[in-house]
Order: sequence, then C-alpha cells, then structure tokens
Amino acid sequence: MTSNPGRNGGSRAAGGRASRLDSRFDSLRSEPHRRHNPLLDEWVLVSAGRTKRPWQGRREAPAADTMPAYDPKCYLCPGNVRANGEFNPEYASTYVFTNDFSALRPGTSMERISDGLLRAEGEEGECHVLCFSPRHNQTLARMPVTDVRRVVDVWATESQDLGSRHRWVQVFENRGQIMGASNPHPHGQIWAGSALPRDAAKEDATQAGYLAESGRRLLLDYVAQELDGPRVVDQNDDWLVVVPFWASWPYETLLLSRHPATHLHDLDDARRDSLAAILVRLLTRYDNLFGLSFPYSMGWHQAPFGGASSDHWQLHAHFLPPLLRANVRKFMVGYELLAETQRDLTPEAAAADLRAASPAHDVASASDLAFSTGP
Ligand SMILES: [Zn+2]
Ligand SMILES: [Zn+2]
Repeated sequence: MTSNPGRNGGSRAAGGRASRLDSRFDSLRSEPHRRHNPLLDEWVLVSAGRTKRPWQGRREAPAADTMPAYDPKCYLCPGNVRANGEFNPEYASTYVFTNDFSALRPGTSMERISDGLLRAEGEEGECHVLCFSPRHNQTLARMPVTDVRRVVDVWATESQDLGSRHRWVQVFENRGQIMGASNPHPHGQIWAGSALPRDAAKEDATQAGYLAESGRRLLLDYVAQELDGPRVVDQNDDWLVVVPFWASWPYETLLLSRHPATHLHDLDDARRDSLAAILVRLLTRYDNLFGLSFPYSMGWHQAPFGGASSDHWQLHAHFLPPLLRANVRKFMVGYELLAETQRDLTPEAAAADLRAASPAHDVASASDLAFSTGP
C-alpha cells in the first residue's frame, strides 16, 4: 500500500475499507475490467497497459510561456474595451461581469411544447465571467493562496446570489487552448439556469437514492472509503483529492469536502483557506506532472438551489484534464462516443503519478510570476 500522501495530516478515519477492496483487486486491475461510477450510475472500461502501444497520434505543442502581464488586445485585462463597447474597470483583484455572448439570458420564454416524441422547453438564466486576477499571464496554480482565497469568496457569493434566482449554478473554468479556452487571461465562468442539467440531474438522483437507502451521504461514505488509500492525491483537515475509482479522463480528480457541506457559501473562513491551499497544490501538481501549464476543465457541483432539501448532496469539484502524457491528449471518440468511456491507465497509477509530482512550483519560475494583488 502507499505511504500517506497527505502533508497536513488531520483526523483520519480508518481508511481500511478501500484497502480491503484493493487487496482483492490485484488480478482484476491488470486485466480489462469495468468500474461503476455511483454518481452518474455509469460504467467505465479500464484497459490497463494500453498506453504502451505505439502512438502515432497528434502531439500537442506546449503553449509558449512568453505572455505579457498586460495585453492591450485582451478583452479581460483591466481598462480594456469588450465586444459590447464597455470598458473593464482598472480592477485590482477579481472582476465579475455578464458574459457579452451569454448562452442563457434572463426573461427567456419558459414555454413548454410537446408533440409525441418531440419535446422542448424554454430555459432562462444568466452567464457571468469571473476574472481571477488582473494579470494576463497569471494562472490559479501560480497565484498566491491569499489571492485564490478571494476567488473562492467570489465563487461563493456569486453562487448564492445567482442561486436566489435560479435552480442550478455551474461554476467552472476552462484552462488552456486545447480545452477551447478563448482567452489565456485567468478567468472562469458561472452559468445559472432554471433546469437541472444532465449531470446535475443524475448526481441529484443518485445521491438522493443513496441517502434514502442508507441514511448517509454518498460522497461522505466515499471519502471514508478512500482516505489514506491508493487513489488519494492530497488531503488536509477539510478536503480530500482523489483520482476517483471510476475516473474517465486519465488524470481526472475529485475534490471533496470532508465535512458535510452542500454549497460553497456554507464554508467558513478556515475551510475556504484550506480549500485555496489544496487547490493551488493540486493545480501545481498538474503543472509539474508534465512540465507545462496544465490544461483542464474544472467545476463545482453544489446542491440545487431553491427550496428542495439538500440533505443528500455533498459539495465537490471535478477536475477533467485532457492529457494522457506530455503533449498527448486523450480523445473521447469511437468507443467512448458510441458505447462507454474507456481509459488506458488505472486510476491508481494516475494517482501515484500525481502524488510524485511536486505540489510546489520551483522557486525561480514561481518568483518570476508570483504577484500579490492585495493592498
Ligand atoms: Zn488579459
Ligand atoms: Zn459532481
């Protein structure tokens, strides 16, 4: 079994249950097998060893690390003009505005129509953009933890505000050109809508079903099973990062609150601080894994807003990076699109790789880019 990867220690539940499964798992792990994702009630095919096959596919060129701190052509930099003609303020830390090309808009008709198999319904909402930093060449991974804490605060206040008007609030970030990020300026998005989207509806149903059956929260039970186990990447008193047993993407991780929490605004100061700290450590491990500014999509799953009980829901974030190896991306094509998700390295191997990657940037490059936006 692995050594304890957590630096900060903290209270440890007996992490024995995962160990018992893993000790029975040795023969299956080296053969093609399927694993169940209890959050989405889906299966994933694990084909360990397939990464050894000759690779003649596309290699992604690392992004050149030569960006300026301010780009006069960037529509997110302070003081610059946006597509709708408005000027950004000379903001000093974070900045939120309504997306000039929103996918959801307030006041949309909520009409429902159906005719046999054909059904449609209106969907209203709001789309906000959140600049994490005024510095064009910054990333969450390289920001001081105190500045990332400010981002956590904005995620929480924005979610609570949008949740007062909409049922589902999706906080997310697309990082890197190969994830389709339209602009390298460090920013995320917050979309809020009236319906539960596909994955939210599935996770809502699975977590509610688990609570009804067991009286416990699915993801708190999962935390207890994984603590100190072979899929743990990092842990502190409040948070656990694992490559989930059922991970789809090669280096996918799940960031879980170890204490009951349904929404980001539930978190007190101490848990927001410990969140910012473990977030920076995780994203830095990603950067160091292949020695490049790591691309990913990440997002928070909070309980649906607006009245209904949230007792079944446990706050968590998904990190979904596309890379399989340095400059080699995993494509979800063919079997994945038509049958089910398939992965080429085991979640245990991916977790070991991430644990081996340093959670700190090397001093030279860190001091080069570190920039506190505080007073
Ligand atoms: Zn910029
Ligand atoms: Zn989720």
